[in-house]
Amino acid sequence: MSIHIRDISKTFGSFKALDGVSLDVPDGTLLALLGPSGSGKTTLLRIIAGLEFPDAGTIEENGADITERHARSREVGFVFQHYALFRHMSVFENIAFGLRVRKVPRAEVQARVEELLGLVRLEGLGGRKPSQLSGGQRQRVALARALAIRPKILLLDEPFGALDAKVRVELRQWLRRLHDEIGMTSVFVTHDQEEAFELADEVVVMNHGQIEQQGTPDAVFDKPATPFVMDFLGNVNVYHGRVENGRAFWHGIPIDYPDYPHAQARDARVYLRPHELEIAPAGTAASRPGTSLPARVLRVTRSGAISRVACRPHGSDAELHVDVPVDTARDLLLQPGVQVSITPRTPRVFIPGPEYVI
Ligand code: ADP
Ligand code: MG
Repeated sequence: MSIHIRDISKTFGSFKALDGVSLDVPDGTLLALLGPSGSGKTTLLRIIAGLEFPDAGTIEENGADITERHARSREVGFVFQHYALFRHMSVFENIAFGLRVRKVPRAEVQARVEELLGLVRLEGLGGRKPSQLSGGQRQRVALARALAIRPKILLLDEPFGALDAKVRVELRQWLRRLHDEIGMTSVFVTHDQEEAFELADEVVVMNHGQIEQQGTPDAVFDKPATPFVMDFLGNVNVYHGRVENGRAFWHGIPIDYPDYPHAQARDARVYLRPHELEIAPAGTAASRPGTSLPARVLRVTRSGAISRVACRPHGSDAELHVDVPVDTARDLLLQPGVQVSITPRTPRVFIPGPEYVI
């Protein structure tokens, strides 16, 4: 089932929760809606589910306009962050709920629930109450319940947000496999970029009720369309510089920027990810005047297999962060006070528009 969303807007009181959102979800895709809290992700998901209705715009499923159709008559399964299981019912009855409402014959319910218990790897636990399960198991019950009616579309709103990190990683890998096995179209809401990038075929980055970018995880990460996306993907050095004649300047080092061929200088921001900077001891072959920046190491801290090196470029009071493998930091004898030179590998330049006033 493919979903086509055209120019959807939704206002709550005077607050615009969605502002002209258009989005295509191709059949069989697992799409992640990624964005900070309040960006409109849940509102968009609820509109796709038919639990909320837009003020303007349309939704189509396989080409049919379903904008006015209520959740009950859309073939969607929904999983929320908080388990929302019926506490007084057994696991079996929780999963069977949607089938009983639809008056499915008993024997068929029995067979379908057994099948689902197997699918979510909870065989033999049908008799338990939700309170007798772990958090991860409860979310798998919620998923089985959503799948019971054989939805064409599965919608998940931060389903693993309340679980601890290890269980979250396991469940997201498991969900990916399940999605592929069943061959559904799924939309997954998260504010966790790692989760979105690991799980999804397509990532949609939302901000203030609008879509900033849609693309594959690689495309979004390697070619962020806006400063917001770059910032949101985290841990980045931002430098306020200028651009003219097809070049931006970062501490005097020219960076090609053919999108702005004009002679009149404009303010620009240069974004550099810490792992996309090279660092070398000053005076070695790797330090090249005009292409690398002299700096002094302030601190070196370790995070797993990575050393985070905080530096101060000469003549600047900004800090620049460089990530290198721990072994590299050791080999280069990086420690506070050492003089180094830093070379940007893949700097990205953005010219602030009216919405990005510095
Ligand atoms: P997200 O899921 O990205 O955190 P939401 O879609 O839940 O964002 O909310 C977007 C904005 O709309 C928030 O500021 C929220 O307070 C507001 N909002 C959402 N639902 C309602 C509602 N039923 N009534 C009033 N405001 C709402
Ligand atoms: Mg939400």
